Amino acid sequence: MPTTGYDENNIFAKILRGEIPCYKVYEDDATLAFMDLMPQSDGHVLVLPKSPSRNLLDADPRVLAPLIARVQMIARAVKEAMAAEGITIVQYNGDAAGQTVFHLHFHIIPRWSNVAVRAHGRGQEKAEVLEGFRQKIADAIKPG
Ligand code: AMP
Repeated sequence: MPTTGYDENNIFAKILRGEIPCYKVYEDDATLAFMDLMPQSDGHVLVLPKSPSRNLLDADPRVLAPLIARVQMIARAVKEAMAAEGITIVQYNGDAAGQTVFHLHFHIIPRWSNVAVRAHGRGQEKAEVLEGFRQKIADAIKPG
């Protein structure tokens, strides 16, 4: 399915090309996952397909099936590594829906019953905190 209007210079495309760094937790031939720089909770991870689409609506369904299995695998690792009580999965489609980076991605947001989520895309986390969570989550991922 052709992807129209995909901007090759969006920030996640630059991360995928290795032009800017990320706190990587997982990579395979079709998927990249890294820490959200402005996390809505401790351990907030983003999961992206490597192939380009602006969001879910223009994605090739053949990309989506393996991608959601990766989201599940990484969400399990995030839950274990962060000792989370629950996991919120979020995915925005379009400006009006709150999407700010136009390369398809799923948010994996660890949750605890007494902790409110923080605002979306605001307040950058400290590098050492992100690196600490990155390491724990990467270690907990069990591909297969
Ligand atoms: P969305 O609004 O769903 O498009 O979400 C984009 C997310 O990307 C937000 O949660 C931002 O905090 C996050 N973000 C933006 N730039 C970066 C970056 N360079 N590395 C990691 N996360 C980022």
